[in-house]
Amino acid sequence: MLDDMLRQALRSQAPMLWINPGVRTQPELFDPALIDQAEQRLKRAAPLLAAGSPALAACDGVVESPLLPADALRDAYGGQGQWLLKADHRLPLAGSVKARGGFHEVLEFAEYCAREHGWQGEDFRELGSAQWRACFSGYQLVVGSTGNLGISIGLMARVLGFAAQVHMSQDAKDWKKALLREQGVDVVEHGGDYAAAVAEGRRLAEAGPQSHFVDDERSSSLFAGYAVAARRLLPQLRELAIEVSARRPLLVYLPCGVGGAPGGIAYGLKQLLGDAVHVWFAEPVASPSVLLQLAAGLEQPLSVYDIGLDNRTLADGMAVAQASMLASNAMQDRLAGVFTVSDAQLQRGLALAWGTLGERLEHSACAGFTGPGWLMESEPGRQWCLAQGVNPAQAVHLLWSTGGGLLPDSEFEAWLHQAQSELP
Ligand SMILES: *Cc1c(COP(=O)(O)O)cnc(C)c1O
Repeated sequence: MLDDMLRQALRSQAPMLWINPGVRTQPELFDPALIDQAEQRLKRAAPLLAAGSPALAACDGVVESPLLPADALRDAYGGQGQWLLKADHRLPLAGSVKARGGFHEVLEFAEYCAREHGWQGEDFRELGSAQWRACFSGYQLVVGSTGNLGISIGLMARVLGFAAQVHMSQDAKDWKKALLREQGVDVVEHGGDYAAAVAEGRRLAEAGPQSHFVDDERSSSLFAGYAVAARRLLPQLRELAIEVSARRPLLVYLPCGVGGAPGGIAYGLKQLLGDAVHVWFAEPVASPSVLLQLAAGLEQPLSVYDIGLDNRTLADGMAVAQASMLASNAMQDRLAGVFTVSDAQLQRGLALAWGTLGERLEHSACAGFTGPGWLMESEPGRQWCLAQGVNPAQAVHLLWSTGGGLLPDSEFEAWLHQAQSELP
């Protein structure tokens, strides 16, 4: 049941901080052994990926992003502690946080198809041969997406020789559609919102035996692939000589749409670091889908439309009315809380990331930037810090950038110009 005061606060669309009570009421849905398998699969596939595309050859098929110092951004926000930017907008080929999960699911499907056809090997490089590519061309990956997941799945499918069909909502950007079509991906446009595109994609894929539907709301393969990010982050922290412990915990701020990508990352981080990490999600004021689902309880699905919100935001990667139940379930006793962000805050973030760090982000990718401020300056945030024994002025704040790497210059410059003209 949703508390009336919370409902009013969400309906007002004023940015807010919600603390997760963190009580598990439902049995766990996700099997943590899948993360080890995903990590191994991505590792084994690296030579295949490197051979399949120039962008992936440049990183030896290891799809990872840098961890960047972001104290200049901190200063622009008047923040404290140490700030870092996990630059997933720089992930090779896909240019967004969707790379690890999406690539993993396509690779898992490739392995499945090959096994069905009698492959008993271990070396993924064999799957790059003309014979296997011809086999894969008889199969199709299908996905519903506002953009970045479609790009991740579509491009990786094409790298391996699969057919790919991406169902997009009308609010998806033209350049994303063009990019996919250039690579031979079949882009199908839908009049409704994101959920309608997903539903239609699922229906069509289920009708075809040679089709595999990548289910953003329910896929354990995606979720496990996202979670691998945590395994890669720990050595990066060590390289920067950052010690993480329960006494000096890492605070992580993740932009959230349906909850899969941030949920997987959060799951992976909690699995490795436990009480030494606290994870916060950022959602648009018009699309607080995971906040709503966790606050109302997981007995039944609830959408932001149900409380009178319109799901309209500049952050198209996060315009999701209904949370993933898999992700909500996993976050029930792992997530610290959720804060909401206005379009104006996203614009400010975009301009400041460019101005202070020279990083070109999309609006969604900036959603986490207001997180440290909530902990320092708001009453519920300060209370939470006290209760957890966290001193935000001395903590390491990790802002997870989620996308923008493939943005055309013209698109980014138009956004930047608009953001700068609307800033005070
Ligand atoms: C997909 C995406 C998110 C959120 O991921 P979900 O799995 O939908 O929660 C955030 N930012 C960007 C840029 C994305 O593409």
